[in-house]
Amino acid sequence: MSAPSLPRTPSFRLDGKSALVVGASSGIGMAAAVALAEAGAQVTLAARSADKLERTVEELVKVGLAATALSLDVQDIAATEQAIEACSPFDVLVNSAGLARHGPALETTLTDFDTVMGINVRGAYFVTRAVARKLIAAGKPGSLINISSQMAHVGGIDRAVYSATKHAIEGFTKSMAIEWGKHGIRVNTICPTFIRTPLAEQTFANPERVRWIEEKIKLGRIGELEDIMGPVTFLASDAAAMITGSALLVDGGWTAD
Ligand code: NAP
Repeated sequence: MSAPSLPRTPSFRLDGKSALVVGASSGIGMAAAVALAEAGAQVTLAARSADKLERTVEELVKVGLAATALSLDVQDIAATEQAIEACSPFDVLVNSAGLARHGPALETTLTDFDTVMGINVRGAYFVTRAVARKLIAAGKPGSLINISSQMAHVGGIDRAVYSATKHAIEGFTKSMAIEWGKHGIRVNTICPTFIRTPLAEQTFANPERVRWIEEKIKLGRIGELEDIMGPVTFLASDAAAMITGSALLVDGGWTAD
């Protein structure tokens, strides 16, 4: 109960909202889907692996949360746009589909470059646009969140391509925020440090890289899925109503120096 003459804290809840999480079959996307469902949203979990999506959906539904699965490959832009067009407008989007092919810049292959760009940038760009188009057509506001990286703000060894994709995401996020602000559509990124997921397994298997990570993260530990769940809920909710075109760093202080 708040006093009538004092400001009211905006709600962090998402009851009555629908959310699309792309890349929800694993890692950060899966955690984002759980967080949004727990905050009251009806969540559509999308990725290529239908079986993994179904397993998470089953678990969410079992505890009384609202979730459905949608098979989607963001490399197929036409099919992805069609799938989103066929749904009711999503109030919230989390774009977490992504991959990394780390290696020295001198050795980058064209295939690796195109694959990582194709999913991290091209896929995320057109998913964001497809969701925004539906919102604008329906005259509805929304919160669109791209999972970027601390590597959107710094470079890293063996990360020229990956870091380039994340810098690109920041660029289109800011531009879309500028264009769609008048429609009440907020567009932001979350920039995690190293989080314990299958994507980072290759890095965690290398003791020299783990030493590098532990030195750089000022809080002295690798990130966990739970570290992303609060920030996703916050940006999706009315508590972040004045935040757009921003990057929320969840990096344990990596980029502070
Ligand atoms: P992850 O566990 O490997 O999950 C990646 C997700 O992307 C999976 O759900 C995968 O699902 C989906 N995906 C990949 N290609 C796809 C495609 N063509 N179409 C649809 N979905 C696709 O990795 P994660 O660590 O959670 O990474 C998620 C995001 O966080 C990425 O953008 C990554 O760059 C970013 N990030 C991660 C870290 C980290 O340390 N883990 C740090 C900073 C940023 P399917 O294979 O089933 O399609």
